[in-house]
Amino acid sequence: MGNEDKIQKELPACEKTGVATVNGQVVAINDRTCRELIKEAMNMLNYSYTPYSNFKVGAALLGVDNKIYTGCNIENASYTPTNCAERTAFFKAVSNGVKEFAAIAIVGGKEGKIENYCPPCGVCRQVMMEFCDPDQFYVILAKSEEDYWVYPLAEIMPMGFSPKDLK
Ligand SMILES: [Zn+2]
Repeated sequence: MGNEDKIQKELPACEKTGVATVNGQVVAINDRTCRELIKEAMNMLNYSYTPYSNFKVGAALLGVDNKIYTGCNIENASYTPTNCAERTAFFKAVSNGVKEFAAIAIVGGKEGKIENYCPPCGVCRQVMMEFCDPDQFYVILAKSEEDYWVYPLAEIMPMGFSPKDLK
């Protein structure tokens, strides 16, 4: 094909806002919230540990406690122990006793340069299914604080398997 570096990822248009009800509390996923989460996610690119792929990812997860849990991707010389930024954020939060969430912002790119949206991998979507209501948890994919889209988890994880399926 050639010119692959110039191809921008086209995402289907989606809402720029959402409302999450977690633990009976209404959390507005408005422009201000999105920008704040994106800013935190971008900052996490500085901590990303990626000596092998050099593809840096940062995430910022908004918990029901209104605190932001950040994460970066962490690679490993034996490859499979590598952890994604999104899961790092989730596991930090859960290990602090927080298990309900409203939204996560994700940014990433080669050498930490954000040129495209960076959607979460399937494993991370599955971890989101464990803790989040797919209709009321929002995934924010951003190129900058101004350029982003907001997706309900249900939309990017159709027919997802969740703890409900074990009941
Ligand atoms: Zn992942």
